[in-house]
This record gives sequence, structure tokens and C-alpha cells, in this order.
Amino acid sequence: MHPFSFKPMRSLARLNAAKQAKEASPSDAFAETFEAVIGIECHVQLNTVTKAFCSCRNEYGADPNTHVCPVCLGHPGTLPALNSAVVEKSVLAGLALNCNISRESKFDRKQYVDVAVSLIIEYCRSPTPLVAPPRRYFYPDLPKGYQISQYDIPLCHGGFIDVAIPEEGTKRIGITRAHMEEDAGKLVYIGSDGLSGAQSSQVDYNRGGVPLLEIVSEPDMRTGKEAAMYAAELRRIMLCIGVSNGNMAEGSMRCDVNVSVRKRGAPEFGTKVEVKNMNSFNAMQRAIDFEFVRQCTLIEENKEDEIVQETRLWDENGQFTAPMRKKEGLADYRYFPEPVGIELDRRARAPRLSHSRYALRSFARTSRRFASRTRSSTAFGRHSPSSHATNVRGTARWVSPSTTASY
Ligand SMILES: [Zn+2]
Repeated sequence: MHPFSFKPMRSLARLNAAKQAKEASPSDAFAETFEAVIGIECHVQLNTVTKAFCSCRNEYGADPNTHVCPVCLGHPGTLPALNSAVVEKSVLAGLALNCNISRESKFDRKQYVDVAVSLIIEYCRSPTPLVAPPRRYFYPDLPKGYQISQYDIPLCHGGFIDVAIPEEGTKRIGITRAHMEEDAGKLVYIGSDGLSGAQSSQVDYNRGGVPLLEIVSEPDMRTGKEAAMYAAELRRIMLCIGVSNGNMAEGSMRCDVNVSVRKRGAPEFGTKVEVKNMNSFNAMQRAIDFEFVRQCTLIEENKEDEIVQETRLWDENGQFTAPMRKKEGLADYRYFPEPVGIELDRRARAPRLSHSRYALRSFARTSRRFASRTRSSTAFGRHSPSSHATNVRGTARWVSPSTTASY
């Protein structure tokens, strides 16, 4: 048994009673008193031919580190050039999610070294040795130390999808935002599935720079079943409009689930726990149900302070979640603007979407027109061979001949 595994004590009898009474989920034993509040952040890899900001191929399963270049490795002196297909597919996805599309948007650099760097500075300036010297300042899967993402102006925001919940009817789940970003490299552990027990760790940068759409839901879901149905519907929509292959086993769609528990009718949220990288709907439902029972039991046993803001991982073999790391307040990523701007064609009108998921394809052409007149606002307008290169498509053609045919 895992050392961090959770062992319900007094509630075991209650759980067993519920199991015997009917073939019910253990979470049913608490459902009358408590409710879960669930939000999902879903990363969807976009199926462009090339990566988001360079001309390397976006291909799963290639030999390690064969699709890399100075741009996606983040070498000094390189500048990213936006692949217009990323914007087009993201706009299409945003429309399918009933989102508002930002006519003007931008990318931001999300720093992953700031805390470490400030610790190093503090360490160097301190006249006496600090108690806690810097521990971690390099992420092997993100060697440049930042991720190109979107911060305050996401491309898509304020949407919803209607999800059919078996035996319950249709439920509307809000979409807070959907923004574009790049994926990081992939750590490969030799001799083990994870870091624990591995003989060595290797990094494959083929995934670095692959375009992602991060779709953030409102905390509108209340059960593991609702969350699984929401994620499945999200995947169906992405497949239907053709922006992703949705292959969860290959990591093309990865979901992080935020779960908190509160007494029914209570207005405030409980402490939020994140379960990371769920790659199957079934596992997602079981992980949420486990977290619900774990947190309810702790509340009932007056151990509420043991529910802490942390990231946990789902152990498929043991069927439990285990802590991965504690979250100490809001991470400060020190965002600052990336020199790639996005301005959508002001003359184009946003197409109206049908509610039928099978009608979504017909909007691809319209949304492509809507998105295609994107404009690189700063660096690439100046540095392109043509000083009049005002749109990303033109700039991308210069940087990468293949990007214009990347959908
Ligand atoms: Zn590259």
C-alpha cells in the first residue's frame, strides 16, 4: 500500500452499508450531506502539421529529438513566429464552445524560474546563509524557463457546452476561457513508469512547442459522472470539428481536475485539491469519487485542516489519489508580453453555431475566414523579408513554407 494512501476509518461501515444496500458508488453515502464542486482544466493538442511557433513537424511517435530547432528549444536570440493554423483551429474550437472570441489578443511568457531566481538573488545578497537555499531552478522539459501562453486576454472566453448526463438530463457547463499555449518537452523514465524507481530520466523535446488549447471550465460539476461526461463531450466536439485527434493515451488530451467539498447549501467553496493528468474518463470519475469520499470523511471526523491545497496523482493500480506537491498560495509566474500579437479580421463576422454537434463541421470554413487575417503586431512585421508583412500567414510563410498548409 502506498504510504500516502488514504484509509477511511469510522466511515467504513457507512460505505459498506451503502455498497450492500445497492450497487452504488461509495460517494453516495455522503451525497445527502455534502456536494463536490468540480472544475476541469483540459489541455488539447491541436493537430497542426507544424508546431506553434516554428516549422518543426508536430508528429507523435517520431524518434526522440528529431523534430527540434533553436526556436522550440528556446535558444538565445531566436524569435517565435506564430503558425496561423493554431489561431484558426483555436477560434473554431472557441466557437464550438459558444465562447466570445477576442478580436485582439496576445501571448505572454509564463516564467517558471522566477521563484528560484529570486531565491538565488536573495541567497547571494544575504549577509548570512539562508535557511532554505534555492532548491529547484531548472525544469528539464522546459529548458528555456518559460512557456508561451496567454494571460490576461485569452482568445476565447465566456462560453458553455450542454452535456447529456445519463439518467439525469442535460446540464449546461460554463467555459471560463480557452487560451493558446505551447506544450513542454516530455520526460521519459527508464526502468519505471514514473520518477520513483527509474534508473535514469531522459527528455524528448519533440513535444516542446506543440500547440495546445487549454480549456478551463467553470466549477459547475457536482459529481464524478458529470465531470467524465463533460470531458467526453469536450473530446467529441474537438474530434468533430477536426482540431485534435483527441487521443488520450498519447497525451493529445490531458485533464487536470479541481475538487473541493462543501455542505449542501453552503455558499462558500471548500479547500481545492487538484488531481493532475487524468488521461481516461473512467479514471477521472473514480478519482473524483475517491477525493469526494476522502474529503467528506475528513470533514466528518473533524480533520478538516488535513484537507490542504495540493496537487495529487491518481494511482490506477491502488485506486487512490496520493499527494504530489503542496501548493503554497498562488504561483507568481511573472507574466510579460511575448512579441507575437494577434489581431483577428475586424471585417469578418463571427459565425453562429448550431447546437447540433454534427453541424459544427460546416462552420470550419467560416471560422477559418474569421481567423485567417491574423496580424503579427511587432517583431515579425519588422523582421520579415517584406517590410509590409502585416499578417501572420505571410510571416509564417517566410519562416516556414509548410505552416500555411498546416490544417
Ligand atoms: Zn522547432
